[in-house]
Amino acid sequence: MECLARLPGVGAKTSERFAYHLLRAPEAEALDLAHAIRAARERTKVCSECCNLDEVDPCAICADPARDRGLLLVVEDPRDIASFEGAGHRGLYHVLQGRVSSVEGIAPEDLTVAALVARVRRTQPREVCLATNPDLEGEGTAQWIGARLRELGVTVTRLARGMPAGANIHQVSTSILADAMAGRRPLP
Ligand SMILES: [Zn+2]
Repeated sequence: MECLARLPGVGAKTSERFAYHLLRAPEAEALDLAHAIRAARERTKVCSECCNLDEVDPCAICADPARDRGLLLVVEDPRDIASFEGAGHRGLYHVLQGRVSSVEGIAPEDLTVAALVARVRRTQPREVCLATNPDLEGEGTAQWIGARLRELGVTVTRLARGMPAGANIHQVSTSILADAMAGRRPLP
C-alpha cells in the first residue's frame, strides 16, 4: 500500500483497493504487473540525443532519416510526443523531463536545458518551437529557455494559444494540437 500510494493520483483508499486486488487476483496476473514494471525499467533507455524514452538509443524518431531535422519541438514530457505525432509533427523533439516550478522546487538546472542548448549549438536547426504547456509554469519555462536559445541566433517560436489556458497537452484533441502547431508565432 505504501508503494502504490506513491503513484500520482493514488491516495490511501485507492492504494488499499489495489493492494487487496493484487492479493486476491490469480498469482500469474499479479506477477505480470511485477514483471512488466521490471522489464520496462530494465529495457527503457533515455535517448542521448533528445532525452525521449525508448528501448533503443538513439530513439526511433531521432534515428529516422525521413524526419525534418531543422525543426525541433521542445516538450515537457515524453508522453507529449505521442500527441504531437498524432497532430502530424514530422520534425524532431527535445524532452525537458519536466518544467520549472518554484512550488515543486524544480529549477532550470533540473531539466535537460543544458543538453538542448548544446544540441542547438551543434546541429543549428532553423527553428526551435517551445511546446511546453500553456499554463503559468509552462509559459515561464518557455520564456527562460527562449532567452538562452536566442543568444545562439536560432529562430525561437511558441505554440499559438489555440488551446484553452490551463489545458494539458496529452489531454486535448489532436485537431486542437494541429491548429495550435499551424499557428506557431515568434516568442514575444
Ligand atoms: Zn531521440
